This record gives sequence, structure tokens and C-alpha cells, in this order.
Amino acid sequence: MNDDRDEIRRRIDLVDLVSQRVRLKRSGKNYTGLCPFHDDKSPSFYVNPALGRYTCFSCGEKGDVFTWTMKTQGLEFREALQLLADQAGVKLTSYSGPTQDKSEREGWLATMQSALIFYRNELGKSSTAKTYCDNRDIPQSVIDEWELGYAPSVREGLVSQLKRDGHQLVEAERLFLVQGDQQNGYTDKFFGRLMFPIRDDRGDLVGFGGRVLGDGTPKYINSSDTPLYRKSRVLYGFHKARDRMMKERHAVLVEGYLDVIACHRAGVKEAVASLGTSLAEDHAKLLKRFCDKVTILYDADKAGEKAAMRAVEILGEVGLQCRIALMPQGEDPDTLLRQKGAEAVQEAVTKAESPFDFEIRLLESRLGILSDEFWEQIPLVLAKAITELDLERHILRLAGQHPAIPNAQSAAAALRREVNKHRRAAQKGIKNEELPAAPKIKRSASSLQKAEQILLVVWLEPERRPLIKPLIEEQELWQTGTARLLVLALKEASEFDELPEDLQAILLEIDASIPQQERTDEVIKSAEMLLRIELLTTQIRAEEEVLLADPNNQVAAQKRKELTAKRNSLKTHRTGRGN
Ligand code: ZN
Repeated sequence: MNDDRDEIRRRIDLVDLVSQRVRLKRSGKNYTGLCPFHDDKSPSFYVNPALGRYTCFSCGEKGDVFTWTMKTQGLEFREALQLLADQAGVKLTSYSGPTQDKSEREGWLATMQSALIFYRNELGKSSTAKTYCDNRDIPQSVIDEWELGYAPSVREGLVSQLKRDGHQLVEAERLFLVQGDQQNGYTDKFFGRLMFPIRDDRGDLVGFGGRVLGDGTPKYINSSDTPLYRKSRVLYGFHKARDRMMKERHAVLVEGYLDVIACHRAGVKEAVASLGTSLAEDHAKLLKRFCDKVTILYDADKAGEKAAMRAVEILGEVGLQCRIALMPQGEDPDTLLRQKGAEAVQEAVTKAESPFDFEIRLLESRLGILSDEFWEQIPLVLAKAITELDLERHILRLAGQHPAIPNAQSAAAALRREVNKHRRAAQKGIKNEELPAAPKIKRSASSLQKAEQILLVVWLEPERRPLIKPLIEEQELWQTGTARLLVLALKEASEFDELPEDLQAILLEIDASIPQQERTDEVIKSAEMLLRIELLTTQIRAEEEVLLADPNNQVAAQKRKELTAKRNSLKTHRTGRGN
């Protein structure tokens, strides 16, 4: 095999090979250019033709024709060897990989090329297609760059062209360009559609996608698998995104053709899409050759959320780090670019969050933080935290909002217990359904919760609102999660309409549950006192804890005494009123 390698090195000129991707300038015995492996500002990349080796003095990349081919095309050594052997016309002696008959492949590619030229010419001729592009703000420069075409609304347009060009229609049928058979004749596969050529990672034209111009269905028709095209292995835009991906070690995954094009136009030039199919393992492997990180930029609908979580799983399996950035509601990169400009698209990408944060936020928005279901399911999601910091960050944030455990510390402890239970079970390989259920927390309205509710609905009456205004400013007075949430929002709002919708609903629900006789000033005053007593109790406990650790702490002892006296006086006062 060493002989093969030497022979290939002799026959392939590294300068020619590199020149296909890098503009090289002669400099003495060497050639120099901008390094394709890092973001090079001044030429630090050198090719030495005599040695057949390249070096970058900035990032340290170096090698020969084989490493070059492996790195720039994301190939394994064997594949690079085979590819270069084919180019050099060397028949490998010791290795015979899967070889496709070269002439057959070239024939197919020539047929595809004929189809591309046909579609591109038709786009130039069709006013319908031009109008469509104008309306969608697709300028000629983009049409040219992405080689967009148009399949006319006739049955035998491409068929006639392929015949004229001398291509076999039997083969064209295998390539998903025409349909029918020799007996009954052939018709075009695509008609009345805007055509997107699909190129593989090497840049070979392997398929087409067609978008209907009006409202017809299906919206898109994509080539199915053909001798040239395996949809589980090809990502749209990949050959254009490759250089940037390689430099940044990062890719952006979007949903469709126009999303890829919009991202590239917005400067997000590492965007690719899996087409007409969900992301497959081979897609992930392809990305892994060029990147370490992938940002998933999908639509913010149910389907997009689900697809994003699935993509995280698939990409994670090959060791890619993921972040998820859903588009703003109702937008896709294409509409966003047209309405808000390039910065909005870039911003959507940078706003990506970790899959862990994403899943938690998704659960919150889907179930609502006050629902039982949320609190039943959240420990399972939290158990997936990779770092303890991630876990604690969410536990502390969520604990204060627990609807049934008023004390944030107790709520946090309960959450940690549940998370640990799931983690232990996961280690032992026990399935979630087999776990004992979490102890149900009783949601009967405690007197504390009731007192809070009585006070909160006062806010709904504009003339009595001043009564509760000062209490709303005292955040620590409120103990249950619901009340804390509401108070935070009430502080900011001056009108009911300004409250978030979910909180509006909660406030109305509470309002409906408080009978008229519990809305007197007396009851309101009593409710406030109950909250103050409860707060004092918490504070007394804190001092007791200090005393437990240090029984001689005079300050804590004094403070505890004062707080207790204050509480007792409130208690007598309140009982007196109550009578
Ligand atoms: Zn470099």
C-alpha cells in the first residue's frame, strides 16, 4: 500500500489540489494563501510543492495530499485514499473499497446536469416563476448562487430536453427526473415548481427539490433515494457551508431550502438542512467530521419542538454538542430575514440555549408552572442535568414558585429528593413507570394560602387597591409560589390587562373562589396579620437555628426574644379581632 501512496503523491500535484479551494500565490519556492482551517486575515498558509506538504504558521495545520483531502472533505483515510487513487488513475493493490463504476456515475451526473440547465433556462423564461421570486424577495444574485430553476407546467418539457441531449430516459427515471416506462412513454416528474438543486458534500448534483408556486399540495417534492442520492446522507447547503463549518467547528441546522438560503444571506453561512426527512444518524456523522457544535434552529411550533429534541438525541449520539434556538413564534429564517433583516436571524442563532434549559422551559410553557403535572414531571427532566450547577440553578429558581410547598427551602429539598430518586433508578436501569410515585402534596387551601388569596383579589377592586399596594412591595411576606408569582407581576402592572395571560386566569379563578362575606376590611386586616405572624415565625426559626449552632450567641437570643414578643402581640390582637 505504501507504493500506492507514493504513486498517488507523485501523480497528484498538491498545489493544484489546494488551488481548488484556496487562492495561492507563488512566493519563492513556496505558494502562500489564506489558511482554510482558521479565520486567516493575512496569508499564513504555505504549500511546498517540492515536498508535497502544506503548513499553516498560525494554526499549525500541516500535512500532505491525504490529510488535505481527509480534512477538507471530511473523509476517513481509506476514503481519501480511494478518492485520490481514482483521480490519479492508480489502481489500489492492497485495498479494494466499494467502487462505483466511474463511467456509470459520470453518466448519471451528466443527466442531472442537463436537467439543471433545463430548469435554469426555464426560470429565465417564466414570468410566473420570476414574479414568485420577486414576491419572496429572491433576487437574481441568489437565484444564480443557489442555481434555482423552474420546472414548467408541461408534461414533457424535461423529457424532450433529455432526449435531445441524448440521455437515456430509463436512467432519468432512476434519477427521479421523469416517470413512466419505455412501453407507455415518459413524463416529467416535476412541473409547475421552483426547483432547488441538491448537491452532496463533494458538490456533485445528486437530486432536486421542487416547491409548488401557489397553494397546491404537496408543498414540496424531493428526490427520493436514487443511485446518486441517499437522503439520509445529504444535507442541503452542505457544500457551501463546509468551509465555514470547518473553521468555526460549528453548524446551524434548519428545516428547509429557503431557511438555508435565508441564513446564508444573513451571514449565517454554516447553515444546512435535512430535507423531506428527519435528521438521520448518517447526517449526524457527516456533521461530526466538520464540527463539534450544532445549533438547531427550527420553527417554534409543536412539530419543531419535537424535531429539535429528536435532533439533540441523534446529534448527541455521535458526540456533537447541541444548542437549541427556536424561531420567534410564527417566523422562519426566511420570513425573519425579509421582515427584520440579517441581524434578527443572527440574533436567533445566538439566543440558543442548552437542550436541558430548553426542555425545562418547554415543560413550563406547556403545562404551566402551577399545575400538578408540571411538578410531577419536572424531577425527571432535572435528573438529566449534566452539572450540579445546572441542576441547582433550576431547583432554586423553581422552588420559590412551588404552588403547594410555601417554604422555598422545603420545596427545594423535596425536588432534590425526587431528582436523586430518578438518578439512582437510571443508574440501576429501572424504568420511570416502575418507580414509586412521589408523595402527593396536599393542595387543600391552607389558612395561609387562603389569607394570601383574600388579599390578592383586593387588587381587582380599584378603589380598595391602595389597601394592598404596600403589601405587594413586601415580597417576603408572601409564602406560596402562586402568591409570589402574582405579587411580582402586580408590582409591575397598573391594569389587569397588563398582567401575563396565565396570571390573569389564575387571579380570576381565585376571585371566583372567595365569597362576598370574606371581602370585608376586617377579614382583609386579619389576613394580613396572619401573613405577618407566619413571617415572624419563619424569622424566629432562623434565629433558633443560629442559636442551635451557637447557644451563647447573645444577638440571636435577643433578636429571637423581640420577634417572639412581636408575634405574640400580633396573635392576641388578631384573636381579639376574630372574636
Ligand atoms: Zn491556519
